[in-house]
Amino acid sequence: MIPTPDTQPVAVLFDAADTLIELSPAIPELLSATWLGTDGAPSAAAVREALWQIGTEGGWPDDESDPVARVETWTRFCREALVRGGGADSAPAARRAAQHILAPENYRCFPDVPHCLERLRANGHQLGLVSNFDPWLHDILSSTGLAPWFDTIVVSSEVGQEKPAPAIFALACERLGRLPSDCLFVGDSVAVDVEGASGAGLHPVLLDRYGRFPDFPGTQLAMLDFLPTLAAQFKEGNPTW
Ligand SMILES: [Mg+2]
Repeated sequence: MIPTPDTQPVAVLFDAADTLIELSPAIPELLSATWLGTDGAPSAAAVREALWQIGTEGGWPDDESDPVARVETWTRFCREALVRGGGADSAPAARRAAQHILAPENYRCFPDVPHCLERLRANGHQLGLVSNFDPWLHDILSSTGLAPWFDTIVVSSEVGQEKPAPAIFALACERLGRLPSDCLFVGDSVAVDVEGASGAGLHPVLLDRYGRFPDFPGTQLAMLDFLPTLAAQFKEGNPTW
């Protein structure tokens, strides 16, 4: 029997970076003393703070279609983060870090991801991915085994829109054939994922793996284990939503 719109499971859409996948080691650790092994390396905490500042200023690298230019762009970025984090200026170290960041095999999916996607699928949910990323995200999704789970994968640099703009969320819903109000969006950023999804009419779920937002007033998870239950409750019109 074809389900009616009222009983059809909601679609569940995800952010990618730091929601489903992470670089290992992450950039702060990558640029820290452990990785570089030099006296002039900064602490991971100092690099994390520097990255936060750079991000606030819109300084993360834009997409470069040329692989050589991409390494150069990320080398400059790493060098900036290294210096702002209080480390010694080291172009070779920054280049090594850039090459690590740009290698798809250095990304892994969080341990709770495969089982969560499997359960959501088994429960009949459509799955989507909306990421502010470059086209080589597809290589990461292939190497981590995540690509086959998704009905649609929307990458910002491929569609000319990026979160938190409503248009990129609307495009993902359109590709799934669903109204935004029938979609959950799960992401780790309040400003980009939660506010963006909410602004586009989806139902946001903050994934706060590291306890960064203890006072967040909306729907929040510390890990993905409970997400299938949450999605099922939404499907059933749970009043807490
Ligand atoms: Mg993210």
